Amino acid sequence: MSEKRMCFTCETERDVELVERKETVTIKGKEVEFIAVSYRCTVCGDEFETPEQLDSNLEAAREAYAQRYESFSPEALVALRSSYNASQKAFGLLLGFGELTMNSYEKGSVPTSTNRLLLNLAGDPYCFRRMYELNKNRIGDTQRKRIESSAGFRETLHWERMDAVYHNLTADERGSIERRASNAGVSVSCIVANCVTETLKQDYVKLLAGARWSRMEESPIQVESSIRGLAV
Ligand SMILES: [Zn+2]
Repeated sequence: MSEKRMCFTCETERDVELVERKETVTIKGKEVEFIAVSYRCTVCGDEFETPEQLDSNLEAAREAYAQRYESFSPEALVALRSSYNASQKAFGLLLGFGELTMNSYEKGSVPTSTNRLLLNLAGDPYCFRRMYELNKNRIGDTQRKRIESSAGFRETLHWERMDAVYHNLTADERGSIERRASNAGVSVSCIVANCVTETLKQDYVKLLAGARWSRMEESPIQVESSIRGLAV
């Protein structure tokens, strides 16, 4: 099937044919091969690329690089899946893949760019937890039990404890903690931890203040400084 395009050598519209050729480019210091497309003028034989072809060639080179250097090896995929103690089928379904997709990836097929992104996200236990909550109805009871008792999944349980704290606070209290965290440039959990420590310290002060009645020689200032000493 022929197509007409402007040939800048012939300086007129000519019939062109599509050419696909293996090219090698260097990206970030590494060589990658990809299939570049261009047109060849059927009259003068010169080859040229349209702006769209330039874009798609660039994208093909990037994709080739990502597949070669930024993708998962089958071993890395097995390790990722095993950290959640999930079967190939269950893991794939949780990530929104088909039933057989993980199997083919673990046998060496290269994940698509979208699936690479999902696999990357699944490496973060909190992201995986979110995917799990969204898709757990797609997998069976046995798989759910296995996954929920896995090391990777259990890492996210720390969040659940913070969630409990979150839900036990009023919106004002949350706002106040968030502001303190933002002003101090630290995480919310850091402020919560400080509050807990602060409360314990106050209890300790009260305890020592009570003890002072029987130890009159110890002044409140000494008590305070001894507690500061503890906190250092
Ligand atoms: Zn030409």
